Amino acid sequence: MKLKINSPLPSPVDSDTENDIPKLKFPESRIHSGLDPNCRSTIPLCPKSFSKVMKSIDTFIFDADGVLWLGESVMPGSPRLIDYLVKHNKQIIVLTNNATKSRAVYAKKLAKLGYNSQKMNKNNLVNPAAVVADTLQRSGLDGKRVYLIGEQGLRDEMDELGIEYFGHGPEKKQEIDGAFMYDIKLEENVGAVVVGYEKHFDYTKMMKAANYLREEGVLFVATNEDETCPGPNPEVVIPDAGPIVAAIKCASGRDPLTVGKPCTPAFNYIKRKWNINPSRTMMIGDRTNTDVKFGRDHGMKTLLVLSGCHQIEDIIENQMNERDDMVPDYVAPCLGVLVPETNQVYY
Ligand SMILES: [Mg+2]
Repeated sequence: MKLKINSPLPSPVDSDTENDIPKLKFPESRIHSGLDPNCRSTIPLCPKSFSKVMKSIDTFIFDADGVLWLGESVMPGSPRLIDYLVKHNKQIIVLTNNATKSRAVYAKKLAKLGYNSQKMNKNNLVNPAAVVADTLQRSGLDGKRVYLIGEQGLRDEMDELGIEYFGHGPEKKQEIDGAFMYDIKLEENVGAVVVGYEKHFDYTKMMKAANYLREEGVLFVATNEDETCPGPNPEVVIPDAGPIVAAIKCASGRDPLTVGKPCTPAFNYIKRKWNINPSRTMMIGDRTNTDVKFGRDHGMKTLLVLSGCHQIEDIIENQMNERDDMVPDYVAPCLGVLVPETNQVYY
């Protein structure tokens, strides 16, 4: 089917030599699939319109990868936008779906990349590892331990709250020899199975998780269900936590409590900690199915930046499929283009 597009798609123009911020020509009118006049449309933002929108927003929640950084590099122009918001007394929260590292490690990374370390420290960061640890603590494990499929970030956050866990890291060689399928060794006193991205995930871990989950009282908590994660080589698919969670869901026949975007535990964690007013909060991210959906499902304004995963075509596809929950209110090429040249405020 050929798309009828009301507004021309943005096209690249010369980059900003001073800051190396990619600039795109943007249509003045709304971005709309053109098929159904009643479907939700998205407004492209420029510095002037962003300044006006800012007036109705107290808190900005930022995704990290594809928004603040890309792999190990800073996203050009993003620190400038953060400084601009801080100058105008806006509250800043960073919400990543990456649980491989702790909030303390991400805070160090932000500082190293040149972000305002006073406003973007560990206390302004949220990741699924912190939400998982908080969820387990609040649910009361009664001294029981956690079977963990996950990386260092989960371990650090659980250590901080004194939660005991085991099972992470590579399986011992002898356990996968011979007839292990009929004689799997399970530990006693397990209160929860926590599943996230882990590079050592294998059949034995899947089998252990599914067997621990046979007990109804054992909690099943997942960090996030992102299918893939971005990497420096776009030709390579990097599976994220989603496929690992899916394998354990399938083997155990149980659905997890997933805490990361777009799910509600991450929102409840933020609401409890900062008491945000969702109608005066903007979620900014590079994915429509996690960042935008998270914002839309929880009553926030949403902005998709095109510096990471999803593009204008994805917005149009969501409009065509009537997935209003994944259609952002606003779109911009990247954060840096929203800062007025003169730092002038338009209201
Ligand atoms: Mg992202």
